[in-house]
Amino acid sequence: MKPVRRNRSMRAGGIGPDRLHVRSGAAWIACRGMAIGVLLLVLLHPVGAEPARRHVLVLFENNRLLPANVLGDRGITSALAEVDRSTEISTEFLDYPRFSGAAYGATVTRFLKEKYAARPPGVVIVAGDRALDFALNTRSELFPHVPVVHVGVARSYLASGPPLPDDVVGVPFDRDFGGTIGQALQWHPQARHLVLITGASEHDRNWEEELRRAAGRFEDRVSIETLAGRPIAEVLKRVKELGTDAVVVTPGFFRDGAGSLFTPADSVRLIAQAAPAPVYGPFVTFIGTGVVGGWMTSFESMGREGGVIANQLLAGQAPSALRLPPVMPVALHVDWRQIERWGIDPAAVPADAIVRFRSPGFWQTYSKEAIAVALAFLLQSLLLTALLVERNRRRRAQSSVDRYRFELAHASRLAVAGELTGSIAHEINQPLAAILSNAAAAEMMLESGTARPGELKDILADIRRDDLRASEVIRRLRALLAKHEVERQPFDLNEILSDVIALLGAEARRRRIALSARPASETITVVGDRIQLQQVLINLIMNAMDALADTPEEQRNVTVSLEGAATGATIRVRDRGHGITGDHLAKLFESFFTTKRKGIGLGLSIARTLVEAHGGTIAAESVPGEGAVFTIWLPRVVPGGSARIGAT
Ligand code: ADP
Repeated sequence: MKPVRRNRSMRAGGIGPDRLHVRSGAAWIACRGMAIGVLLLVLLHPVGAEPARRHVLVLFENNRLLPANVLGDRGITSALAEVDRSTEISTEFLDYPRFSGAAYGATVTRFLKEKYAARPPGVVIVAGDRALDFALNTRSELFPHVPVVHVGVARSYLASGPPLPDDVVGVPFDRDFGGTIGQALQWHPQARHLVLITGASEHDRNWEEELRRAAGRFEDRVSIETLAGRPIAEVLKRVKELGTDAVVVTPGFFRDGAGSLFTPADSVRLIAQAAPAPVYGPFVTFIGTGVVGGWMTSFESMGREGGVIANQLLAGQAPSALRLPPVMPVALHVDWRQIERWGIDPAAVPADAIVRFRSPGFWQTYSKEAIAVALAFLLQSLLLTALLVERNRRRRAQSSVDRYRFELAHASRLAVAGELTGSIAHEINQPLAAILSNAAAAEMMLESGTARPGELKDILADIRRDDLRASEVIRRLRALLAKHEVERQPFDLNEILSDVIALLGAEARRRRIALSARPASETITVVGDRIQLQQVLINLIMNAMDALADTPEEQRNVTVSLEGAATGATIRVRDRGHGITGDHLAKLFESFFTTKRKGIGLGLSIARTLVEAHGGTIAAESVPGEGAVFTIWLPRVVPGGSARIGAT
């Protein structure tokens, strides 16, 4: 929103009758009519109502470095620059109350009149009660018809005087002495003594009156002591004596009783340093001097409000057309260090309070780091969860694989048993037949009366031995075929060897193969499942016997040997069969690899799984045409050592 630039010099020295050039009668009449019209326009237009440029004069009532002025100036400047950065801002300081009196007023008036004669402002902003007074008294002489905006003027001050002219506008503020005292007593419920401190200047006296009035509301709750217009030394001496039941409320002062000059903020700093009791004040510039806080309007926001109004006036709006709030808002301002120092419950500080000097908490200081760490934790947890889920999945998969392997191993044993049916039946038939014939012989002896006790005893012994032989065959077979759970027991590998040889002996004889065993000379203890290891050996021996099918009878032999070593044992199954070619050797332990017409190709792959589940290894060697050797290595139990078995 750019303001319309108006040029007063044009109006004053622009198109005038003296500049008109008269050429003919008609033209002259026409020109004369225009000239009169223009002249009338110029004369009727109020001088000074239109600023020559976007020029704002800001008049502060006191000195340049007063903290309130610095803040107010910041607000005014920022609001004006928001509309036009090139706005010309002139700033003057009346320097009250250091300089005062009629002569001083006249001097300043003359100075300003001369200074701004050639560069009159479009709007005058006055900051403070006395600056407003000054403008009201001198504007007809200094800046007639220039609208005036007041900032930092107390509502009570406006109410005490006559109504302002229409073109003097602004939003007053309330010095919230009452709100500040009330807040202090609310946060210090133990307080019994309220101390009010004010100064000696005229300004200070006005504040004193207002403060006393506001404190009157609390008379029935606390005793009130007023230190008004005293020398600073006396004030500080009294303040130092205060007990913990006291609360100090002060607007600060410009001049003390001894005539020393202060800024209100500086006077309050001295008081707060000396007081062993909490100090409150109603001005935002006090925050940081040692006061706890108070209800106040920020000087910067007052300045901004004035700047915004000035922008509207510079844009051509009539002062009477402005819609302005009746008063500036107040807010509770606090110094967090003082809240902590006086043990005020943080929960009692309203959420909308304007808090300063709060050291950032852990979250504010390390929020980025905390988020990064939390994310890392989250990622780590997600990763761990994913790994756990994956592990469980694998476990479940592994257990079903184990189950299938177990079923397969069992099925494979059943298949072997099927192959052995003929020889096993023979194996059982033999002792049964022997039992039968022995029983018949004994019967005959008894019937013929030739039975001698010695002979009968031998016959019965034979029967018992044959019975044991048959039941041993059945025991071994049942053990092999039973669907038992995987065991983990220590046992001697030699026992397995003899069991397997006994189980397969009949089959070997049927095939006319010499099956021989060379057990170890010592006990070789392994830990594991004896049936599974039996199954491995049976598989290897059956394969060896298959490989001997075409071998001449006198060369058909299979040898199974067991040797112990320091940490393990080696079982070798050797045959003189057709052997295994190089390509086949590589695939031997793969599932479904078979060269047999009725083979399935699972025997060796199951054997390897079972051996590895016992922590062992299995390998094959062969010279084609000369036979094959299968070697199993198993860890043995050594004192102080251990052996493992996996589930199968
Ligand atoms: P299958 O006996 O059902 O064929 P295996 O896994 O037990 O399954 O054996 C796979 C193959 O390994 C056999 O078909 C055979 O070709 C070969 N094989 C195993 N043992 C021997 C051996 N001692 N001599 C020669 N070949 C063998």
